[in-house]
Amino acid sequence: MPKMEFPLWLMAGFIFVLGCCVGSFLNVVIWRLPARGTLVTFQNRTARLTLSWPPSHCPVCQNAIAWYRNIPVFGWLCLRGKCHTCRVAISPRYPLVELGTGLLFLSLYLGFFLAHWNSGATPTIFGGALPMLLYLIFVSGLLAASAIDADFFIIPLEIPYLIMAAALASCIFGAPKMLPAVVPASVWGKLALGGTVGLLLSNVLLYLKVMPRSFDIANCPRGDWSDGPMPLIPPPTLKQSWPQIIAGIVISIIIALAWLLCVARVAAFVTMIGGMLVFLIGVLPHPINVPDDSRQVLEESDDINARREISKEILFLLPPIGLAMVAAFVPLPLPAEPWLARLLGVLLGLLVGGGTIWLTRILGTLVMGRVAMGAADAPLMAAIGAVVGAPAVAVVFFLAPILGLIWAMVLKVQGKPNILPYGPWLSMAAILTLFVGHPVINWYAGQLFPKPPVNQSTIIWPGEPARPAATKNQK
Ligand SMILES: [Zn+2]
Repeated sequence: MPKMEFPLWLMAGFIFVLGCCVGSFLNVVIWRLPARGTLVTFQNRTARLTLSWPPSHCPVCQNAIAWYRNIPVFGWLCLRGKCHTCRVAISPRYPLVELGTGLLFLSLYLGFFLAHWNSGATPTIFGGALPMLLYLIFVSGLLAASAIDADFFIIPLEIPYLIMAAALASCIFGAPKMLPAVVPASVWGKLALGGTVGLLLSNVLLYLKVMPRSFDIANCPRGDWSDGPMPLIPPPTLKQSWPQIIAGIVISIIIALAWLLCVARVAAFVTMIGGMLVFLIGVLPHPINVPDDSRQVLEESDDINARREISKEILFLLPPIGLAMVAAFVPLPLPAEPWLARLLGVLLGLLVGGGTIWLTRILGTLVMGRVAMGAADAPLMAAIGAVVGAPAVAVVFFLAPILGLIWAMVLKVQGKPNILPYGPWLSMAAILTLFVGHPVINWYAGQLFPKPPVNQSTIIWPGEPARPAATKNQK
């Protein structure tokens, strides 16, 4: 049993409740972030919509919701899914997002601190608090991005930027072990440094308008509701809500059984999958199936000059790729400082993650003649890479289309139009990778290179202590 300042189960309960509250906040973010700044009228006052104004209210009768009826999950249950004043149905999406977030927070905490999924992680609460906090911010950001992408086919860039900032801050403040790291003086470290300088250069050139913008709308994927009302989830009938409610209950029972019957590692994993499913059944099935409010994305994908426009994005990628290549062959005396190893590891993950999706977008567009992937998927994947690191981002890259394909088949069976946002699948693959990324890569590397084990490479795996020399074989 690890040494703890608090009893484990008390802390687990706290993390679960915290997750439900964060889920409640995410419900607000999901609806308000894309429409932020739009003029709205609430109780005879007209002002710009912010994350905190107007207060939570019923969209039909405009009555503000008292705090004690706004308690995550239980508030909705006590109201039996109806507005206290006008009795109109409240979508089960809200409690499902709250419960799903709570379960994901719980699974991360128990996975790392009880089941020791990440064997090198510090088991004490405060010793491991900083990387844990990074993961919680990571998961929260991914859930918000997933739901906004599912609704509006956009991802506000604030979300990937927040995740990247959290990852970078963790390096400086010394979040140990769970962050990706590379040996600074190695080829990987130099690639990361050169690529980052190139990326900054590209952004400066773009800002100075030396470099052209593609599609005139790329890099501003924020919604525009100036000529229409803020979209709201139409209140469902109780009959429409039952399948979601029953699915949520069944998943919760399965998770409870897993904790009773299975070993901790399996139970933590079941909790993670269950949390994702609860979140997805809350977010994915909604009546807005043709995104009128995301015209810009559809405009972009209908652009007849897609091939010409995408070529401008190749220009943007030339400085990072070019400088990374140059730096790799230049002898740079980078000191072997742990913070620098973490910083370069985060930057390498950021570049590799964003780069793979962006190259996929460019190649796909050149081949098909229409835009292959949303402009915001690359920043999202860059943020994912910054947290999980360059090797594990490959797992995300290959896992995401598999998850997307499953959802495409569900839509096909239901006879619904096959319009797929990619953000949710990148996000779910990224959350899964927190648990399975490291074992999958070790297994795969073992298949490919049975002789020189992966531990001897220049990449320091998350959870692995810094090693003086390559002596240890595969785990
Ligand atoms: Zn009402």
